[in-house]
Amino acid sequence: MKKKLIAGNWKMNGGLAFNEALVRAVSAGLAPTHCDVAVCAPSPYLAQLQGLLAGSGIDLGAQDISQFESGAYTGEVSAAMLKEFGVRYAIVGHSERRQYHGESDAVVAAKTARALASGITPIVCVGETLAEREAGKTEETVKRQLAAVIHVNGHCISEIVVAYEPVWAIGTGKTATPEQAQQVHAVLRAQLHAATDRSALMRILYGGSMNAANAAQLLGQPDIDGGLIGGAALKAPDFLAIVAAAA
Ligand code: PGA
Repeated sequence: MKKKLIAGNWKMNGGLAFNEALVRAVSAGLAPTHCDVAVCAPSPYLAQLQGLLAGSGIDLGAQDISQFESGAYTGEVSAAMLKEFGVRYAIVGHSERRQYHGESDAVVAAKTARALASGITPIVCVGETLAEREAGKTEETVKRQLAAVIHVNGHCISEIVVAYEPVWAIGTGKTATPEQAQQVHAVLRAQLHAATDRSALMRILYGGSMNAANAAQLLGQPDIDGGLIGGAALKAPDFLAIVAAAA
């Protein structure tokens, strides 16, 4: 059986004291659960988080990964470095990186390949902007973004996690309705199905203003296999409520 995955994306938030308090509160409140739980932390805190999460049942994730193996790439963090801190997941192609750091589909594909080659599970984000949705281009956009990673040669595409994050829903409090989200998830599942016979086992997360109040309905959709949680992952009770809704 495929387990749901609830992954917190802390983005550029946190600090030593904040992280410790948050992780302690989440670990203390985590009931035995049938879903996988992860937190994707800023790179400087990976060592701290590795220690805090030990034995908690919560996996560690990074928010990005370099497409390069090593060398003269100032500011980049390699897959090998992430692995030294027990990182299991890396978010790849988040819309904030596509938007503010100019990440193209080709860069996202290269990062996905690097993660897979290193044994880190990439959480590959796709999603349309409001303008694309209003122009009727939602399907076209997400299919193009997913196609870029599906056609990465030589890697087992069934090892990726996909996150559908409509850009207009991120951090805005405007969630896609369960029906809107399910519709796109079904499109993504069909695209995965055409690429691998393991598509039914793959996880497609929803992200974009998922919270304690809307999580159960979203997670109840047939093709929604978890959540990528931004704002609500910074508050232990909210994050725990989402995990409970997934279990
Ligand atoms: P949000 O962010 O939950 O704050 O909307 C989700 C994300 O960007 O991963």
